Amino acid sequence: MCGNTKPRSFLVNFGAFSRLSIAYLQAVVGSVAMSSVPFLNTPEALRQLANAPHTPCQCTLQHCAGWESINDTAWPSQYMTQVATLRDPEVYEPTFEEHHPSGTRYESAEAPVALKFFPYNRCDVHACSQCQQHVLRYTEFGGYYVDHRARRLNTDLIAD
Ligand SMILES: [Zn+2]
Repeated sequence: MCGNTKPRSFLVNFGAFSRLSIAYLQAVVGSVAMSSVPFLNTPEALRQLANAPHTPCQCTLQHCAGWESINDTAWPSQYMTQVATLRDPEVYEPTFEEHHPSGTRYESAEAPVALKFFPYNRCDVHACSQCQQHVLRYTEFGGYYVDHRARRLNTDLIAD
């Protein structure tokens, strides 16, 4: 009897542990200090963050009006600081559904920034130390690759 209950409680604990680990691993991908940044769950919070004044800057992210693939060498990590995340720590598997009420597409420069939809629901928010421009970033996982995607944050496109 004792032999039956012990392994079972071990399995339960292990399950909880591995689930936590997976969530943690997903959250830290593409960022270093994830635990110290706030989770923004409303359009207002994101607007407030991004409304800081910008100054002209030539960082390599200026052209990312829509989602662009940015590998680690192109990412200007010396200027970038993660300041927030849009990934809900309570949601284990964020939706892959996209939000395009006006007929835009994933890569459109005019696509709305819809926090609850893909890919914004798995983004971290970074700020450039040179221009205070905010940039959204997430990582796509393929069978044989990881692809870092970045998009400059345009506050006018943040959807309610
Ligand atoms: Zn910059």
